[in-house]
Amino acid sequence: MFTHLSNGKMPLKTPLRLAIISMHTSPLSQPGSGDGGGMNVYVHQLATALARLGNECDVYTRALTRDYPSSVLVEPGFRLHYVRGGPLALIPKESLPELAEEFASNVAEMMDMRLSYDAIHANYWLSGIAAHILKHEFNIPLISTFHTLARVKAIADPDEDPIFLAKRALAETEIIQCSDAMLACSATEEAQLRELYKADPSRIHTVPPAVDHAFFGPGMPSQARRALGINADPLLLFVGRIQSLKGPDIAVEVLADIRKTFPNAVLAIVGGPSGKSGEHQLTQLKAQSQRLGVCDAVYFVEPQPHERLSTYYRAADVCLVPSKTESFGLVALEAAACGTPVVASAVGGLQSLIDHKITGFLVDNFDKDAFSAYTRMLLTNTELSDGISRHAQARAKKYTWLDSAKRLQNLCSYLVVKQPVACE
Ligand code: UDP
Repeated sequence: MFTHLSNGKMPLKTPLRLAIISMHTSPLSQPGSGDGGGMNVYVHQLATALARLGNECDVYTRALTRDYPSSVLVEPGFRLHYVRGGPLALIPKESLPELAEEFASNVAEMMDMRLSYDAIHANYWLSGIAAHILKHEFNIPLISTFHTLARVKAIADPDEDPIFLAKRALAETEIIQCSDAMLACSATEEAQLRELYKADPSRIHTVPPAVDHAFFGPGMPSQARRALGINADPLLLFVGRIQSLKGPDIAVEVLADIRKTFPNAVLAIVGGPSGKSGEHQLTQLKAQSQRLGVCDAVYFVEPQPHERLSTYYRAADVCLVPSKTESFGLVALEAAACGTPVVASAVGGLQSLIDHKITGFLVDNFDKDAFSAYTRMLLTNTELSDGISRHAQARAKKYTWLDSAKRLQNLCSYLVVKQPVACE
C-alpha cells in the first residue's frame, strides 16, 4: 500500500517489512559494559519506534546460549530472533568476522520462511558483512549504520591493533560501496564516511539517534540522590563503558582538582569494563584514584538498566563526557534531556549535540584543566548552570526516536522503488 506524505513529494510505502541485523550484540543486552553500549539502545529504540509507526521489524542477533528461545516478540511489530553463528558462547568481537558467513546463511534460512523484506538494515561492520551477503541473496536494498569506523578508531586510539583495523577498514569499504544508503549519526560521521572511505555522498543520510523522553527528563536532584542513596554534594557523573576511548581517567583527574575547592565532591562512574583492555583500564582507574587521594570519593557503579540511568543524570551536578572519539554520544544527549549540564570533548557527534557555552561545554584536545575549569564554573555559578540546563533540555527535545524512525521509514520507501546498487 502507498500513502502520500503530507508534503505530497514522496510516496510512502506502509507498512514496511525490515530485517535489522545486530550480529554481535542483542538489543536486549545490558548496555554499559562489554559489547553493550549505544548500539544496543539504538537498535532497540529504533525498532520499537518503527514498529509503533506500524512497520514490521525482525531483528536478527547471534545466539549465545541454547537457553534462549529462537524468537521473542519484544512488542507488536518488533520481533527478535536468536540465530546460530559459530559457538553458542560469548566470543571476542575479533573472532566474529569469520562467523559472519555462517550467521548470514542461518539468517537467510529464517528469512526464507518469513514474508519478503523491503530492506535490510545492518548495524556495525560485522552485521554489515552478513547483511551484504543477504542483500545479494534476496536482492533488497542494504542500509548501513556503522556506529564506529575503523579508520576513525585508528586515528583516535594508537593502542588499537593496526593490522586488525586495516582489515576491518577494507571490509567496511566493501559494505559502503554496496550500501544503498548509509545512516550517519552526525555531520562529523557523514564527513568521515566521505573523506576516509570515499563513500558516495548521495547515499549518506544523516539520521541522528535520540532519547526516550518518557524516562529522561528533569527532576529534583536532591530527590534523585535520596533514591540512589548517594549523599554527596557536588556529584560529578561519568556514564559508559570503561575503556580508554571514553577517557574515564580524565573524569578522575577532574574530581581530584574539584575537591580542592569542594572537598565533599564525589564522582560516580556508572558502567563496566569493555574490550580487551577494559579490565586493565578499571585497575588503572582505581590505582589513579588512590594516587590522587580520591579513592573514597569515586563510586564505581555497575551498569544500570537504561531507564534507571535517568535518576543518575538527575542526581548529578555535571556529567563529564571526555571521550577520544564519539560517533554520536547518547550519554551527552540523555544528560541534556534531564537538564544536567555536560562538559564534553569536542569530538565527533558531541560537536553537533552541544552548542559550546549555550547547551554545555566543549573541550579541545582532551585538556583536563579545561574540563576542570568548566566544571568548576558550573558548580560555582548557579545562574550559568541553570541557563545551560534550560537550553540543553530545550535542545534535547528535538531528538525523538519517532522522528529518527520516520526518517528511516521515508528513506526505505524511497529505496524500495529503486534498483539496489550493484557491487563495484
Ligand atoms: N548505558 C546504560 N546503562 C549503563 C551505562 C550506559 O543504559 O549503565 C547506555 C547509555 O544510556 C547510552 C549508551 O549506554 O544510551 C551508551 O551510548 P554512547 O553513545 O554514549 O556510547 P557507546 O556505547 O555507543 O560508545
